[in-house]
Amino acid sequence: MLASEVHPFAKTGGLADVVGALPQALTALGHEVRIGMPLYGSVDRRRFRLQPIQGVVTVAVGDRTWPCRIWTAPLPATTLPVYFIEQPELFGRAHVYQLDGRDDPDNLLRFSVFCQAALALIPHLRWQPQVLHAHDWQTALAVAHLAFGAVARAPAFSSISTVFTIHNLAYQGLFPREQWPLTGLPESTFRIDRLEFYGQINCLKGGLVGADLLTTVSPTYSQEIQTKEFGCGLEGVLQTRRGRLTGILNGIDPQEWNPQTDPHLPAHFSADRLAGKSICKLTLQQRQNLPTRHDVLIGMIQRLVDQKGIDVFLDALPALMTLPIQVVVLGTGDPRYHEQLTQAQQRYADRLSVTLAFDNGLAHLIEAGADAFLMASRFEPCGLNQMYSMRYGTVPMVRRVGGLADTVVDLQARELATGLVFESADPASLTEAVRRAVVAFRDQRVWRALMQQGMRQDWSWDRSARRYVEVYRQAMATRHGQGVG
Ligand code: ADP
Repeated sequence: MLASEVHPFAKTGGLADVVGALPQALTALGHEVRIGMPLYGSVDRRRFRLQPIQGVVTVAVGDRTWPCRIWTAPLPATTLPVYFIEQPELFGRAHVYQLDGRDDPDNLLRFSVFCQAALALIPHLRWQPQVLHAHDWQTALAVAHLAFGAVARAPAFSSISTVFTIHNLAYQGLFPREQWPLTGLPESTFRIDRLEFYGQINCLKGGLVGADLLTTVSPTYSQEIQTKEFGCGLEGVLQTRRGRLTGILNGIDPQEWNPQTDPHLPAHFSADRLAGKSICKLTLQQRQNLPTRHDVLIGMIQRLVDQKGIDVFLDALPALMTLPIQVVVLGTGDPRYHEQLTQAQQRYADRLSVTLAFDNGLAHLIEAGADAFLMASRFEPCGLNQMYSMRYGTVPMVRRVGGLADTVVDLQARELATGLVFESADPASLTEAVRRAVVAFRDQRVWRALMQQGMRQDWSWDRSARRYVEVYRQAMATRHGQGVG
C-alpha cells in the first residue's frame, strides 16, 4: 500500500486514518500488507523507533538523480512493516503538502520521486506483492508507471495488479505541461486518454486510467463522481471505467476511537453507562472557556475549506446564535476562514469557541464532550467524524451527500434514526437541522434513543476489509486475463 499520509506517523485528514487502519484489518483476515510513505521532517523517528535499511534507492527524475535512504518501523501495535522513503531535500519539511494554505511548488517532483523510489524498492525487499494499492493523486504515478512506464515490462513488476482508491476527487495533482519530464513517463502518455487534462498534467487521472480496478470510499460517492456536479471534470473518465469502480465505506479504528478506553478523556462511558459523557462535556466547556450551561453543545472538527461548507456555517451564525446552543470549532485551513472564525468568536464569546490548530487530543475530547456534531459538506467522499460521533453518543447533523448519506439515518426514521440529515448546503437548511436538534434535545427520551442507536452501529473495518479483498482478487484476475470487462 502506498500513501502520502499514514496515522500515527503523519496526518492531515481521513486518508491517514484509513491507511493506518485498513492494513490491520487485512492482516487479521490473513493477508500480508506492507506500507510505503515519505519520511517527512515531522515524523517522530525516535518515538516510532525507525531503523535504517541497508542500501540506498536512487531514482532519476528531471535532470538529476535522487538518492533515497529507506527506513522501516512497524505500524504501532502490529508487526506490519512501514517503509519510509527519506529524501531530505524533498520531504525534510515539517508539513505534508502545504504551508499557510499554499501548496509546495515542487509537489509533482516530490511525489514523483516518492512513487518511483517506492517501486524501485520492491526488488530489494525479497518480497513480492501481488497487488499494489495506491491512494489518491500523490501515489497515482506509481500506478501509471506500472501501466504505461518503462517498468511495466520488467518481470519484477509485470505481475503486480493495481488498485487505486479515490479518497477525494477534488485533489487531482494538476501541474503545467512543462513539468511533464518530472513524471518520468513516456511523452506518448501525455494524451487525453492517459494523463493529459485540458492541456495540463493530471496525476490522479493516471491512477484512474491505469489501475486494474478502482475504488472510492462510499457507495453514494462512487455514483456521484460519475455526474457533472461532483465529477470535477473527470466524470467522463469515471463513466468509461464504471465497470471497474466500487464504493466501499471506510471503517473506523475501534481501538483509537473507543469511549470506554480513550486516553484523551477525563471519564469513560458506553451506551449503557452514559454518566462519563457529562463529565467530558463539562471538561470541554471549561477547557474552551464556555459557560457550563445545559445548552446543546455542538462540535465541529474539519479542514477549514470550501468543501466542508464552513462558509455556510458562518453565514448561518446570526440565526444559529439565537438558539440555546454552544459551538466548539477545531480546524485549520484557508486563512480567510481563520480570520472570519476569529472575528465570530469575539462577537459570540459565550456561545462559540474556535481553536485554529491540528490537535488530536482535543478532537477526541470534542467527540466525547459534544452533544451533537455538525457537517455541512458540499461533497463528502466518506467522512469519518460522523462515525466517530455515533460511537461517542454524539448525534451527527449532516448534509445528505456522499458517505454522510450512507451512514446517518434521519430522525424521521424513528427507532432506526441515528442523527439529523439536511438536504442542501445553505444557511437555512443547516439552521433548520440545528433547530430540530434543539427540539429533540429537550425530550430526553428521544435524544437518548438517538444516541444509543448511533452507539450500537458497527463501523469496524472487518466488513469493508473483506470487500477490499474481493477487489484485490478481482484485480488479479483482471491483470492475468480472466478479466471483468
Ligand atoms: P477529510 O479527510 O476530508 O479531511 P474526514 O472526515 O474523512 O475528512 O477525516 C478527517 C480526519 O481528520 C478526522 O479523523 C478528523 O478528526 C481529523 N481532523 C481534521 N481536522 C483536525 C484538526 N484540526 N485537529 C485534529 N483532527 C482533525
